[in-house]
Amino acid sequence: MATNEDQKQTEAGRHQEVGHKSLLQSDALYQYILETSVYPREHEAMKELRDLTAKHPWNIMTTSADEGQFLNMLFKLINAKNTMEIGVYTGYSPLATALAIPDDGKILAMDVNKENYELGLPVIKKAGVAHKIDFREGPALPVLDEMVKAEKNHGSYDFIFVDADKDNYLNYHKRLIELVKVGGVIGYDNTLWNGSVVAPPDAPLRKYVRYYRDFVLELNKALAVDPRIEICMLPVGDGITICRRIK
Ligand code: SAM
Ligand code: CA
Repeated sequence: MATNEDQKQTEAGRHQEVGHKSLLQSDALYQYILETSVYPREHEAMKELRDLTAKHPWNIMTTSADEGQFLNMLFKLINAKNTMEIGVYTGYSPLATALAIPDDGKILAMDVNKENYELGLPVIKKAGVAHKIDFREGPALPVLDEMVKAEKNHGSYDFIFVDADKDNYLNYHKRLIELVKVGGVIGYDNTLWNGSVVAPPDAPLRKYVRYYRDFVLELNKALAVDPRIEICMLPVGDGITICRRIK
């Protein structure tokens, strides 16, 4: 018979898995949040897209349901209308955005992979919010470079969610800080990088976790001293750093 001690050890093991959707120290507590606050109130399209994505081989990339709920609430709190997302995958975070912003709100959504977005698109269409999403296939950096050249784009975004190639986050930040409005928000995702930001140098990390960890550490340091923003690092999902532009 499994003892409480066995159960605790199993939980501790699951927590170390890459892609575990919470950094909370107790799976039971995370489950409690999901079952009490998230699942009962989840929009049916969000659930449908989550279930569809769960069958995809790269499903560890998707935003967690509690983070989706958090983003959805945040967009409403700040009355976001003009938004951007870098890193779309099957479209879970853009759907959370699209359901929160007004009918004439916009999401510029960029990803190098269109196929995955097309998997989720029928669900987004059925929810009646696909018209808000302007999907651009390709690397985000050149698009941002073009955008910063035009004065009209400066300070034009209410919210920008970055959830893509971690080795480019600082490059994105240099451009996004021009594009977000003063008082607007940039959210950088995965800033606790599976907890590896505090792993000892000799910790047995997967190759890609170790590779990107240095970039995440560098980003976190840079954001912490950037005088143009106020920041708040939240242990939601894999860690999200909320940056509010102040100048
Ligand atoms: N936000 C998504 C969601 O809620 O499901 C998850 C995004 S997933 C973690 C990261 C995505 O970034 C992948 O779909 C990948 O194709 C995309 N990506 C990687 N490098 C990119 C780049 N240079 N420009 C744009 N997208 C990129
Ligand atoms: Ca993420």
